[in-house]
Amino acid sequence: MKTELVIDLEAEKQEILKRYRALLRASKSTLQKGDKKEIRKAFDMALESHKDMRRKSGEPYIYHPIAVAQIAAEEIGLGTTSIVCALLHDVVEDTDITLEDIEREFGKKTAKIIDGLTKISGVFDTNSSLQAENFRKMLLTLADDVRVILIKLADRLHNMRTMDFMPRHKQLKIASETIYLYAPLAHRLGLYAIKSELEDLSMKYLDPDTYKFIAKKLNEKKAERAMFIKKFVEPIDEIVHEQGLVADVYGRPKSIHSIWNKMKKKNIPFEEVYDLFAIRIILDSAYENEKADCWKAYSIVTDLYRPNPDRLRDWVSSPKGNGYESLHTTVMGPRGQWVEVQIRTQRMNEIAEKGFAAHWKYKESSNDNGLDQWIQKVREMLNNPEANALDFLDDFKMNLFSDEIFIFTPKGALIQLPLGATALDFAFEIHTGVGATCIGAKVNHKLVPISYKLQNGDQVEIITSSKQTPKEDWLNVVVTAKAKSKIKSSLKEEKRKIADNGKEILERKMKSLKITYNTDNIQKLSYFFKLQSTQELFVNVALGKIELKDIKEYLNTEKDVETRGPERPENLTVDMVKSKMKNADGDILLIGEDMQRIDYTLAACCNPIPGDDVFGFVTVSEGIKIHRTNCPNAAQLMANYGYRVVKAKWNKQQELTFLTGLRIVGIDDVGLINNITRVISTDFKVNMRSITVDTNEGIFDGSIMIFVNDTEHLENLIRNLLKVRGVTGVTRFDA
Ligand code: MN
Repeated sequence: MKTELVIDLEAEKQEILKRYRALLRASKSTLQKGDKKEIRKAFDMALESHKDMRRKSGEPYIYHPIAVAQIAAEEIGLGTTSIVCALLHDVVEDTDITLEDIEREFGKKTAKIIDGLTKISGVFDTNSSLQAENFRKMLLTLADDVRVILIKLADRLHNMRTMDFMPRHKQLKIASETIYLYAPLAHRLGLYAIKSELEDLSMKYLDPDTYKFIAKKLNEKKAERAMFIKKFVEPIDEIVHEQGLVADVYGRPKSIHSIWNKMKKKNIPFEEVYDLFAIRIILDSAYENEKADCWKAYSIVTDLYRPNPDRLRDWVSSPKGNGYESLHTTVMGPRGQWVEVQIRTQRMNEIAEKGFAAHWKYKESSNDNGLDQWIQKVREMLNNPEANALDFLDDFKMNLFSDEIFIFTPKGALIQLPLGATALDFAFEIHTGVGATCIGAKVNHKLVPISYKLQNGDQVEIITSSKQTPKEDWLNVVVTAKAKSKIKSSLKEEKRKIADNGKEILERKMKSLKITYNTDNIQKLSYFFKLQSTQELFVNVALGKIELKDIKEYLNTEKDVETRGPERPENLTVDMVKSKMKNADGDILLIGEDMQRIDYTLAACCNPIPGDDVFGFVTVSEGIKIHRTNCPNAAQLMANYGYRVVKAKWNKQQELTFLTGLRIVGIDDVGLINNITRVISTDFKVNMRSITVDTNEGIFDGSIMIFVNDTEHLENLIRNLLKVRGVTGVTRFDA
């Protein structure tokens, strides 16, 4: 069905101007003399060069750069240069305008930022097989000028907000990249508001059912919650003002994504998530009174409501690495419900919401330089390139996106490490030489092994020995990229020495067997012993794993080897898969029908069943795996290996059964298990594979593995199980 689009060009012109004026209003606070003219010039250039282009929605393309510039100004707090760059961010990529044109009109700095934006515009191109390598490129620009990444985040946010017109497979791809890389990056740059919105938008496309479910639940109790917050806040507000503090006290809902995370992490239903919102106390304090005022407010809150002693977080005294400062406490509310209270000043709040740009604005008055350190770390990592781009990406995510812990040296200096870091990581952080010779550590004066996982606040002293050298298994002990790359290069060096030695030995052995020592023969030998490289061959010889008699054996079978050639498995490719798909839908893999021709398995990580939203992933040697789009691994797979993904759907006529799990909780009642199994096997004729039940003081908690046909079948079963007396919750889980 096609609907005719009638465009009123005059009205559109008016709308464009209206949006442009809104952008000017949003950037007003940062505008200086001459800035308005610069922005106008950029707007005119963008308008002219994009004039014949439209977005997927049919809207004029110029709406997009205006919106990106507005996000940059309003939500990230960037200034004129960035607004100009945001307006022009797509012109070099998509129109006839060149970088030289930009430089001539707007100067070097602007041209450099736009060059950075253009270079990384293809980073997550669907056709690109090297996303990880490209991500590295993107980070290189970050080390150059952070504004490139900030504008890129604004660009991504606007694209995510307007993704409804994209085809489904593109939505999945873009949402996956967003949750995998952009949201953590926004988090690391301290852009909490943007991070939360990116996460929610990703979830809306990757896991629409859960998203809608939680949104609906949140909406149902909205009025009740508002009432509760009002009552909770009233006395705080009153006393805070009585004591002469100027403060804004309000309730703030948590994001859908963070609620869902909590449900998964704690394995609890929506009803048991207590912190659906947080209370914020935003103080208007002079810089020198900030800390005292925050603790004053803390004291007021905890006089009114009893605090949970385990849940005090003081990021006022030691801010987080991304610059976040705030005082968090969780208190018992009037209805016996835990409530999180966040206390901070307006300055801290602006940093919390807008991150990086705000951080710079207050830089002179702030003694925290966590973000500078972070950028410094990014530079360091980029200078230590990891041969394997994917490893690099993993290390990077692990190190730079994860939460940090603070560790003290014996002299009391503070060292920041990623959560999960070990004593060995700490040793390498101090000095490569200390790491390489580390044999143990004293943590808070107690002796611990090198693999000891450090806790926030530990004081660590490293014990070394000149006899020690880095070992292969150390790679499993450390988590920081720095330690990993140092260990690897040391092992490599070690291996090279061994290989040199092995090479000499092999040369002698071959001579004694009258085999010519040349590249060709060395290659053949490597194949014969099924080794990855000639270096491996030399190492094996040096270590005595390959001896003279083994080489003799090779001589005996040499003819075979030549005719047979080295064994190399044929790699399955997406094209091979597509050539085997023969259905009316073109490039959609029909699970069931196509499967007689194509080797497939259902991924064990998410156990998809018919009815689930799925995709196919072409593995190198194990055929196609079918994953759910909300599989915990999906985002990683789609973001990094988009070129291996094939669209897939279930064939309706399937009469097969699939294994899935149900968790049933309730009040233990006589005959409860009987009633549950009756519904499953008698009423629904579903086969059970296993059943485990825990009863504890009257609470029933059971896991049942069953075989079902599809999601409809499963949902029906869940509905009926919920009707059993005593059952309070039934949820599906992946084995
Ligand atoms: Mn764009």
